[in-house]
Amino acid sequence: MKGIVFDIRRGVTKDGPGLRTSVFLKGCPLRCVWCHNPESQSPEIERAVTTDEVCGREMSVEEVMDEVRRDKVFYASSGGGVTITGGEPMMQGDFAFAIAFAAHEDGIHVAIDTSGFAPWAAFERMLPVVDLFLYDLKCMDAKRHRELTGVDNQAILENLRRLDDAGAKTWIRCPLAPGLNDSDEDLAALKAFTSRLSNMAKLEICPYHPLGLEKYVKFGKRILYDNPNPASREDVSRWKSALYGAACFSRQARMDIP
Ligand code: SF4
Repeated sequence: MKGIVFDIRRGVTKDGPGLRTSVFLKGCPLRCVWCHNPESQSPEIERAVTTDEVCGREMSVEEVMDEVRRDKVFYASSGGGVTITGGEPMMQGDFAFAIAFAAHEDGIHVAIDTSGFAPWAAFERMLPVVDLFLYDLKCMDAKRHRELTGVDNQAILENLRRLDDAGAKTWIRCPLAPGLNDSDEDLAALKAFTSRLSNMAKLEICPYHPLGLEKYVKFGKRILYDNPNPASREDVSRWKSALYGAACFSRQARMDIP
């Protein structure tokens, strides 16, 4: 089986526990206004308009696994493994499953980094072969979610509830951008929803940064949110206080905030 991969990075420390290899699959049904990987969104192989860079290449599962296996010794010593990410990896659901299955068979820890926007059946079949779901929660308000990402959040929330009911371990990731999805009401709703999850092992804040802006130009995409400033320390402090609360503030801050 083959799929379209736009990057494979080794020695990654942010996409799950330990040292990891992140496999980036091309294609995403969302259009988040803050997306810093706009070149990942189209499922097709793309050529940049300002350089001769090409984004995406066809790879077989075995070719991906050859790369993944190269760091097996480091996964064992660090508690790491492979993270299948994107884009939205479920958009190439069969390919993502085949990689997860092969890694699981090899005894490699498997994480999937997902927006949650896919049919439940796609998640359900991943359950036996995925050790950790890195799951984005972008905005709890349905209308605002549609405005910011182009899709409804109903299936995203429902899939997360079902994963949690099935005992799946999750790290919830909240991309927060000043003035977009960080009102007191937004943060309170996020906290209320996540506090009801039984198997959430971590709640991460992913502060907005503008590093992807130049890629919009490079790949001829329309910029949807042109804020050139990263989230401020004050913003991040307010988000931490609201989501983590005073009691676990310092522990979470050490653990989660870059
Ligand atoms: S889900 Fe991720 S890859 Fe897809 S548009 Fe949003 S930020 Fe970009």
